[in-house]
Amino acid sequence: MTAPAKGPALDRFRLPAAALVVCIHTGPLASLSAGADFWLCRCLARVAVPFFLMVTGHFLARRGWRTTGPFLKRTLAIYLAAAVLYLPLNLYNGGFPPLEWGRRLLLEGTLYHLWYFPALILGVLLVRGLLRLGEPAALFIAGGLYLLGLGGDSYFGPAARLPGLGAFYQGVFALFGYARNGLFYVPLFLLLGAAGRRWSPRASRAGLLLSLGLLSAEGFALRALGWPRHDSMYLSLPLCAVFLFSLLLERNQGQDRRARRLSLLVYLLHPWCIVLVRAGARRTGLTGPLVENSLGHFAAVLAVSLAAALVLDGLRPLRLAPRGRAWREIDLSALRQNARALQALLPQGCELMAVLKADAYGHGAAPSARRLRRAGVRAFAVACLEEGIALRRGGVRGTILILGYTPPEEVPLLRRWRLTQTVADEAHGHALADRGEPLDVHLALDTGMHRLGIPAEDAAALVRLYRRRELRIKGLFSHLCVPDDPAREDYTNQQLTRFYQAADQLRQQGLDPGKLHIQASYGLLNLPPQPCAYARAGIVLYGVPSGGPAARRWPELRPVLSLRARVACVRTLRPGDRAGYGLAFQAERETRLAVLTIGYADGLPRALSQRGGRVLLRGRSCPMAGRMCMDQLLVDVTGLPDVEPGDVATLIGRDGGLEIPAEEVAERCGTITNELLSRLGPRARLVYRK
Ligand SMILES: *Cc1c(COP(=O)(O)O)cnc(C)c1O
Repeated sequence: MTAPAKGPALDRFRLPAAALVVCIHTGPLASLSAGADFWLCRCLARVAVPFFLMVTGHFLARRGWRTTGPFLKRTLAIYLAAAVLYLPLNLYNGGFPPLEWGRRLLLEGTLYHLWYFPALILGVLLVRGLLRLGEPAALFIAGGLYLLGLGGDSYFGPAARLPGLGAFYQGVFALFGYARNGLFYVPLFLLLGAAGRRWSPRASRAGLLLSLGLLSAEGFALRALGWPRHDSMYLSLPLCAVFLFSLLLERNQGQDRRARRLSLLVYLLHPWCIVLVRAGARRTGLTGPLVENSLGHFAAVLAVSLAAALVLDGLRPLRLAPRGRAWREIDLSALRQNARALQALLPQGCELMAVLKADAYGHGAAPSARRLRRAGVRAFAVACLEEGIALRRGGVRGTILILGYTPPEEVPLLRRWRLTQTVADEAHGHALADRGEPLDVHLALDTGMHRLGIPAEDAAALVRLYRRRELRIKGLFSHLCVPDDPAREDYTNQQLTRFYQAADQLRQQGLDPGKLHIQASYGLLNLPPQPCAYARAGIVLYGVPSGGPAARRWPELRPVLSLRARVACVRTLRPGDRAGYGLAFQAERETRLAVLTIGYADGLPRALSQRGGRVLLRGRSCPMAGRMCMDQLLVDVTGLPDVEPGDVATLIGRDGGLEIPAEEVAERCGTITNELLSRLGPRARLVYRK
């Protein structure tokens, strides 16, 4: 006997399970035989929802419950959308009083099939709490809750007569409507799915048949006794669910996302389809075959639901896979750690100002800023007005200093977005003030770089600017030009002296210079602690050295960015064959070349491939071959016979035990990491690692 072929059995079974839910709400056999209909809808079909819950528990547990947050968010979003979709039916039926709306939304669902969503949310939260006690205890408690629920469901008859219990269940019904809810019903199945017990197919099949027999017997017996208040919960239902799940799990391999989406849509849409089929049948005079004939009714509702699901699924937005071609992978937790490590170097009263110019050196400014805020960073610097606005639009609060020149005409925009502007020189300062509106600024001092800034020795010019009422001068800063060069320490010290002298002179005139700052990354790493309010860290925040002489101090910093691409195809060259533009590569022996989906238009320096550039593939280092193209490059993978299309190649960052640091790439190309990183993208997409 051959083993049955494996496939996405769990996902595919969602479709018949959704059809079973449609059965419950349409009663396909009702006009044929009341007994058969009872068996189908009140016994057999009751397995469907436990199955959905078990799959949910199974997948959440497989990811260690780490995806619970996003899962709950998505479930809530689906639920709210469905509630809105069914609002017309609610209103047609007269609606609810305000308090009842709240109770329905939170606990019972706003239409008969929507109970599932609030119950699922409550159940998942409860299970997360229970699991703190350990899995056996959680299962035990969930089992107890299920037994308690049974008394409010199909064992209501005798349970209600027990002293105290009757009142208890009345309380439950007042809150939830039914005992089949997030408290009594959902947790057990979530946990059974999480446990994912698997028996041999034969045992599962036998167990399933036996337990379905039990379920049927239990259902009919209870009905004969007249005990049920509702018939969603049976003693033997968890048994059926567990054996069914084991059977499916045994054959399960891979996913069928389409089956997932379609089954969800059928579940969500079928009550509307029932309304539509009834209305349509009345209009066309087809109530006989489409409503009164229960089988016809069921078939019509299922067909319309499935058709609607297919149409909606076809219309859903399709998103580009972010890791499809070339991407910058950003590890925001490394960024936060780096910020913490740098903050630890600062003296009391000095804060980190995170420099996020050039889209945070290619790391994505707004997401970086938001994560840095969580590390306590409250001040940011950008290069220009546009970058400042982009940060604010990205929801970033706090001080944002524009380090570069902004035309005075833009004062209204600076004010609108509450940005702090650098005064580039005296003329710029007066021109900004002449716009006649108050503006937050920092003055740049030229202490020897001769780029932006008012000459530090020009005290008169400084005083004139401090006397302009429109300029709200919040800070005074300068920039060092050789903080990384130990041979030029004297020059740096002169710059520092000029800077503090200028500040002192202002104080002597009774003027408050505002917050002082002069260190950038290498000033922060190489100088002793400075009496400043800020240190402006750029490149080191991203965890890489700039290049050039090593810094005196190097705290625990981790690179934040990795650059990756895919293998598009692999080909074999005979000895002597040439490849690429200019035929710059020649195979000396039989050579396997992999084509990567990244090139100089993604920001890699074109020279890299002919200056010893390399990539990591399958944890091994492979040399680049020939000239880099705009969108592709060639890599020699002769020693790696298992490289295949779709493989991920690392151009900057780690793969296995190996690493290509950004500074290595920069050095090969005769530049610094600041340039290399800030030029990456935009086509190499930003992907944030969780
Ligand atoms: C770019 C820049 C910085 C940040 O420099 P790093 O060396 O990357 O830390 C700081 N201050 C000014 C004025 C800058 O232009």
